[in-house]
Amino acid sequence: MIYHAEGVVLRSQAFGEADRIVTLLTRSEGKVRAAARGVRRTRSRLMGPTQLFTYGSYLLVRGRSDLETLSQGEIRESLRNLREDLERMAYASYACELVDRMVEEREADEPVFFLVLQVLRQMDAGADPFGLARYLELALLDHLGYQPQLDGCLGCGRAWQPGPGWGLNGSEGGLLCPECATSRPVRRLSPGSVESLRRLRSLSAARAGVLRFAAGTGREVRDALKDLLDARVEGPLKARAFLESLELAPWKEETHGRAGPD
Ligand SMILES: [Zn+2]
Repeated sequence: MIYHAEGVVLRSQAFGEADRIVTLLTRSEGKVRAAARGVRRTRSRLMGPTQLFTYGSYLLVRGRSDLETLSQGEIRESLRNLREDLERMAYASYACELVDRMVEEREADEPVFFLVLQVLRQMDAGADPFGLARYLELALLDHLGYQPQLDGCLGCGRAWQPGPGWGLNGSEGGLLCPECATSRPVRRLSPGSVESLRRLRSLSAARAGVLRFAAGTGREVRDALKDLLDARVEGPLKARAFLESLELAPWKEETHGRAGPD
């Protein structure tokens, strides 16, 4: 089968002497892996379209193997800023690795395709990648059927009321009220962090890219989402470790704990 598909390059690995294996998140066919032959030779027309994070149109050949052949490609949006700035590259790599790990091959899912494309476009345009990463994490959990319970207590059903003592249990997938939290393992969350998590759900990618988290909240929101994801994604994410080392760098200290209006 030969087919056209638009897609985003989630992963691009050198293979053999001159080839690349790319993982594409396509709009019509879901995630596919394809070999691009001879792409690393100079003047290969596939060099640009197979670069990491590129949004392009592709001509693919599907045979009997899981690995398809990418025979032609054309750049729609190169999203090149994602490859030229260390912080954006780290966040975009994390976004792509997370999606790669969470979606199955050859399961078409247009909303996930557009979610990823919007997040990468916002990052490319210079929006704050921290809020966008949190937005993507929650949107993926919601869309893939894991909807964390953020409206009330998983234990007793009590509705969320801003107040102290609430916590989150990642493997159970949601909030626990102060009473239920005493008997189960939870990550304690400030009322502001719970509100921020709940608000993330109602945002667009564009709004998530201008989010400002109040002091301390950003870190709590990030850690809460990490707990939720760790229960769903097997094994460590390479890009996350790199991102965390970047966030801990001294010059980044205040970036995600900044005070200010939400
Ligand atoms: Zn409860």
